[in-house]
Amino acid sequence: MVSIVLKPGREKSLLRHHPWVFSGAIERIEGDPQTGETVQILTDKRDFLALGAYSPSSQIRVRIWTFQQGQTIDSSFFHARMHKAIQWRAEYLTAPEGACRLINAESDGLPGLVVDRYGDFLVCQFLSAGSESWKDEITLHLQRILSPRGIYERSDVDVRLKEGLEPRAGALRGESPPELLLIEEGPCRFLVDVRRGHKTGFYLDQRDNRQALEDYAQGRSVLNCFAYTGGFGIWALKGGAGHVTHVESSASAVELSVRNGTVNGLDPGRVDHLQGDAFQVLRELRNATRTFDLIVLDPPKFVDSRSQMLRGARGYKDINLLAFKLLKPGGILFTFSCSGLVTPDLFQKIVSDAALDAGREAQILRILSQGPDHPTSLSFPEGTYLKGFVCRAS
Ligand code: SAH
Repeated sequence: MVSIVLKPGREKSLLRHHPWVFSGAIERIEGDPQTGETVQILTDKRDFLALGAYSPSSQIRVRIWTFQQGQTIDSSFFHARMHKAIQWRAEYLTAPEGACRLINAESDGLPGLVVDRYGDFLVCQFLSAGSESWKDEITLHLQRILSPRGIYERSDVDVRLKEGLEPRAGALRGESPPELLLIEEGPCRFLVDVRRGHKTGFYLDQRDNRQALEDYAQGRSVLNCFAYTGGFGIWALKGGAGHVTHVESSASAVELSVRNGTVNGLDPGRVDHLQGDAFQVLRELRNATRTFDLIVLDPPKFVDSRSQMLRGARGYKDINLLAFKLLKPGGILFTFSCSGLVTPDLFQKIVSDAALDAGREAQILRILSQGPDHPTSLSFPEGTYLKGFVCRAS
């Protein structure tokens, strides 16, 4: 087996079971590994550290499969890891039309592999050279463990380019999913476009937070910003909200949001869709002196790299400031950031600055994160990316 010897001192993160080896940590490579090939990582003193998948194009040169010496990385290794991840989500598998994340990449010991369930169909992302090279075995095990109607691939994401892999989408096994799948989430049902929708089709990571909104919805007027296909707003209406105004820039998302209202039997008179740029729409609502009891801000990732930090932080502050101006006294704000680089502390500071500039006192009622089907391995803090606050403004 090819050995990768680290520079002195660069073994520290691996000893803490962090699953990445950066190119700068490598002293030398003894052999000529292929893309995705299993290699062993050694300290400068040639002590064993881990086995992982080699990725020549990526700054993350190796992603670790195991820290256990003597383990074999073969088909049965993947079966065992996948079986455990799926078994731990048994509670999510009972509802026939339920949807959840079944395999959460690094945090489930399977770097670069994402598997989501949408009822009878599975949707996968192979985001690393290692997961890509085991694709056939992985899909075979999914078929054997879960017997889905079909397995669809949504690896059409830019991070693949960093791994030297082309973006790709299409059916892998069984039936192709229909144009729209119907899933159930608590009392709500959602049409999901797993072929063209965001991520694998739906923001499964927000499930518990959508449910949390229901507690605050009774009789309220709701502004649901960055609405996608209506998720938070439909939960709010099911929870007794008087009226929901959705703000969303994507025409196809708005179209699906309208259809989701129908699927849930909701009175269209209780729903408005404002299609446009939320930054602008929020300003227009403020200029029109509109106010709301409950506001949701669930924007896309504003900070993808450190160089975008300042601009992203300004974006978060801007929308939060506008939201505080639009909130009625005692109103509730659900505010989120899915940028991993924005820490909860920093996000709190940004939201706090926004309240201050809006001239509002506010308090945090609840701190939110991604749901437990999107766990974070303790040794992989990068796995936590979603953070949110439920705030009450005086
Ligand atoms: N809350 C949603 C997920 C939101 S994802 C749910 O629970 O399902 C973020 C959404 O913001 C995407 O649908 C994207 O199309 C939309 N978006 C991105 N930039 C926007 C902008 N400037 N104005 C309005 N919507 C925007």
